[in-house]
Amino acid sequence: MSAIAEPTAPPLSADGPPGFHLLAKPSGSTCNIDCSYCFFLSKEALYPNEKSRMSEATLEAYIRQLLESHRVPEVTVAWQGGEPTLMKLGFFQRSIELVEKYRRPGQKVQHTFQTNGLLLDDDWCAFFKQHDFLVGLSVDGPRELHDAYRLDRRGQGTFDRVMQGWRALKKHGVDFNILCTVNAANQHHGRAVYRFFRDELGAKWIQFIPIIERATEQTLPVANLGWSERPGEKRLLYTQSGDRVTERSVGTEQYGRFLIDVFEEWVRHDVGQVFVQLFDVTLEGFFGRHSLCIHAPTCGDGLALEHNGDLYSCDHFVEPRYKLGNIHETHMLKLVASPVQRQFGDAKRDTLTAQCRACAVRNWCNGGCPKDRFTLSRDGEPGQNYLCAGLALFFTHTGPTFHTMAQLLRQHRAPADIMALIAAEDAKGGPYQLCPCGSGKKIRFCHGARAPHSLFGDVSPAHPKPPEKCTTVL
Ligand code: SF4
Ligand code: SF4
Repeated sequence: MSAIAEPTAPPLSADGPPGFHLLAKPSGSTCNIDCSYCFFLSKEALYPNEKSRMSEATLEAYIRQLLESHRVPEVTVAWQGGEPTLMKLGFFQRSIELVEKYRRPGQKVQHTFQTNGLLLDDDWCAFFKQHDFLVGLSVDGPRELHDAYRLDRRGQGTFDRVMQGWRALKKHGVDFNILCTVNAANQHHGRAVYRFFRDELGAKWIQFIPIIERATEQTLPVANLGWSERPGEKRLLYTQSGDRVTERSVGTEQYGRFLIDVFEEWVRHDVGQVFVQLFDVTLEGFFGRHSLCIHAPTCGDGLALEHNGDLYSCDHFVEPRYKLGNIHETHMLKLVASPVQRQFGDAKRDTLTAQCRACAVRNWCNGGCPKDRFTLSRDGEPGQNYLCAGLALFFTHTGPTFHTMAQLLRQHRAPADIMALIAAEDAKGGPYQLCPCGSGKKIRFCHGARAPHSLFGDVSPAHPKPPEKCTTVL
């Protein structure tokens, strides 16, 4: 690579997006743990003879081109994996120097870093704090739920080691966001999971990601065993193909029920205090804005950069046929603005099924992510989202409440005022009305319950529960 002249910046033109999001994988798919649902581990098969480590030359090309490519003043330098802490701190210290070297006057740079937390210590966290990183910490809930799939290479749960990392983040006052997958193990425990993050971990930002591992009829038995390396066997390379899902995947409708369970807790107690990505995104949909690709009409502005400079259409499509090129050969902006990538993004809208096009919640859902569109619509049309039933349930259930919150905003009132309105409604119906979440239970024993009862013991012994926060009086 070093013998090739680095591509120079094409003129900033209106053809490309003014800004975009790029997830860089400095250590490729290499990870220090072995989560059973993590098909990204299998991506090592794409680079079989390479040690997946980003070189100094690729780091510099990445930072320079990223900053050159943005017409908007805010730029995010996002690190992800595999596990990026495997790159050691010096690599990221160098990334900060390079940002300072190439940043144009007026450009504001936000650094983000997604980690499993196992290697976080005082040195890492002091560095994050100094440079104002937003750290995403992967946690799937209390110990019993987290340890269902988030295992190390010996098959042991990682919860205690993740909590050590979380303590280091807290000690240094680093801003963190919890990234929680919704899977077969935690899908029935939305509220318990949410309360754990809020009450035990003190999380202010939470993101839920559904686990959907696709497989074909032939690959399903192997896929069900997990993507871990087994002695003497090569991993199966995961690709977005097949209409089956593994037994670890979240249930279609259950995904919606999980989100509703979280929503009914959040809307009673935490609006304006805790930010759940999907809830923010749903509210902004009332104003015609879509900051999350999954529920935007089109996508294509969220790419993935491999350790060697290969650029892919999306983090979920790190597959040979979605490789756009290499940033050592073609400037990133040219690849991002390329017709192939624009078509990739437009296809999200152009391939919607008739069921989606006629759907009452289309403006908020927009058919979900194309990677999940592998089932048949009601009319038997291929390309329906696997999560459709759950998404429809969630957006239909929460729509009226978000509509009221949007009205509050239009009246220049705080969306948090919704909590008083909901409390008044709850009080009017009394403790024995059916809970609005749809559980079939009386509200008193469901989302109106004051005690944040946990089904799980010993979730975080080092961190006592904070005082009760419930504002609903029943
Ligand atoms: S394919 Fe899905 S995850 Fe990728 S950019 Fe499009 S909507 Fe986002
Ligand atoms: S809820 Fe289902 S039908 Fe409606 S837009 Fe979403 S995926 Fe399409």
